[in-house]
Amino acid sequence: MCIITSMKKVSVIVPCFNEEETIDLFYNTITSFWKENFTSHELELVFIDDGSKDATYEKILKLHESDDSVRFGSFSRNFGKESAMFAGMELCTGDCAVVIDADLQHPVETIKDMVDKWDEGFSIVEGVKSSRGKESKSHGLFARLFYKIISSIIGFDMQNSSDFKLIDRKVIDVMNSLTEKDTFFRALTFWTGFKSTSVEYEVRERAAGKSKWSGFSLIKYAFRNMIAFTYAPLYLITFLGVTVIIIGIILGIDAIVTYFMGDSVGGYPSLVILITLSTGAILSSLGIISVYLSKMFNEVKNRPRYIFKDHN
Ligand code: UDP
Ligand code: MG
Repeated sequence: MCIITSMKKVSVIVPCFNEEETIDLFYNTITSFWKENFTSHELELVFIDDGSKDATYEKILKLHESDDSVRFGSFSRNFGKESAMFAGMELCTGDCAVVIDADLQHPVETIKDMVDKWDEGFSIVEGVKSSRGKESKSHGLFARLFYKIISSIIGFDMQNSSDFKLIDRKVIDVMNSLTEKDTFFRALTFWTGFKSTSVEYEVRERAAGKSKWSGFSLIKYAFRNMIAFTYAPLYLITFLGVTVIIIGIILGIDAIVTYFMGDSVGGYPSLVILITLSTGAILSSLGIISVYLSKMFNEVKNRPRYIFKDHN
């Protein structure tokens, strides 16, 4: 007679873009760790091939054929990590899900700490970097700057946060119900408001291959996420507009006073300053509005976040 115990299922979502060198290593590391450390939690691995140009897809297929617990989705082209994470959440069937990088920079041992917290009743367990590891200097600087700015704008600490986190089925379901196309996973999980906590982990060196980020793509990412998550730039330009008006009034009063005191106003320099200042303010404000407008256009078009060429 067999006793059926209710095993809780943990889905591990792994976004992969050109990770042929790391997939097998990741798979071996996590499966052996699981065998040794988990007795009452079943593992479901969900690999999302984000339109890789190398043999990532084939490697994932091979794992899927030899192991029932490996599920996969493969995009028709590169849609970005954010889309890959959301595809993972769509496909996963676990009672909770952990999102983790394929390159072993996120230590698999931390998953144990996360699952422990989840068992205690937390719905969101965020991995917080205790150090940024051996990332390139520019990356570290850009990342720090970006998170400092966005933390103060959004109102929660994004400085050391990462996509490495565990979310309960409740949170997964909320994520899956969101219709917006421009998502920011890191911030959205907190936005759900469910009980959250964090565990620390140390960022490791990439196991193999290269980082997919360049300084430029990080800036693009930063900008995109800021626009996706806050209206602050729109308020900022309103503030800018008011500031320019105040400067104009001060200069105007100054000109009138100077006129009545019998001095002539330095016409040309003040004109040039005023024109440059106001043109700059108008153009940059128009730019910011256009960015939001284009985002709205994008949302209105309602195209899917990603397109599967294959999944199971
Ligand atoms: N990734 C992805 N799509 C992309 C870029 C990256 O799915 O367009 C995956 C990548 O395979 C890895 C994770 O996202 O598993 C983190 O990427 P990477 O290691 O290049 O970033 P870094 O660790 O340097 O921030
Ligand atoms: Mg990495």
